[in-house]
Amino acid sequence: MSDTGPSTDARCKICQSADLEIFEHTARCRGCEVLLYWPYPKSDDAMMAEGETKAWPVVNALEWYSESSFLNHQNFTQMLRFVADESERGRPLDVLDFGGGGGQFALVCKSHFPEANVYISDIFDDSLLDEWRAMNTQIPFAEFAEDETKFDLIFLNDVFEHVSDPKGVLKQLADKLKPNGRIFIDTPKQFWLYPATKFTSKSLYTKILRGTVSIYHLQIWSRRAFEIVVSESGLSVKKYQETSEYTMPASFYLRNMGITNPVVRLAGSLFYRNAKYLAKNKIMCVLSKK
Ligand SMILES: [Zn+2]
Repeated sequence: MSDTGPSTDARCKICQSADLEIFEHTARCRGCEVLLYWPYPKSDDAMMAEGETKAWPVVNALEWYSESSFLNHQNFTQMLRFVADESERGRPLDVLDFGGGGGQFALVCKSHFPEANVYISDIFDDSLLDEWRAMNTQIPFAEFAEDETKFDLIFLNDVFEHVSDPKGVLKQLADKLKPNGRIFIDTPKQFWLYPATKFTSKSLYTKILRGTVSIYHLQIWSRRAFEIVVSESGLSVKKYQETSEYTMPASFYLRNMGITNPVVRLAGSLFYRNAKYLAKNKIMCVLSKK
């Protein structure tokens, strides 16, 4: 077995509990309640080789961002106002969009704070779109570890579910904070639909797992698992909220789950439309050094 292959160590990578419930391609830890892709990879190599954004032709990337950008314009505004307020106007904030993909966040950030310097670093350097490049200072991913820039604010939107070593990433980012710097995280968490379908419809539960857990989405958080990683990374939670948020239209998620039955599709679309009343599917939080 190579060092980068899947883990054969049947322990939870978050809390090291051996009490794992293996089902389909997932493992749910009864200790910290995290839902893991199983067997989980030891590095990001497999995700890079097989991930959704691998070798995306520019036209496909533009299509994706053009579909998600409308919702994300509002999502980013909400996230930014969760972590920063008007008291920070006029300051030349150094902001890092870690795992920022196409680079849209920089536009929203500079719209709020024109003096801010927005840096971007993403495991896929080429995902930065020409359309949004001008607002970003790119730090090539291969140079990120050695780069000495320190930040007032590090922004991680839909990143923390992708990384194979969440604790390692968070420790690295904590070291890049200026004094009083903050890290913002927005990442998917499990909600009631997971246990509800698990006990009532194994087939629907399997579809939900197929749509939400993959080599690309390596962990779907529980609050407990999330707090363990934060604490072990030398950070503490300053602000925490569970929220309802989607980056793509309902059809995208139904397609991912392989749901074709028209009745279930209709139920799925209704659920999506009323999600803000029905399900908190995301953790949104601000962290600072202990
Ligand atoms: Zn665990």
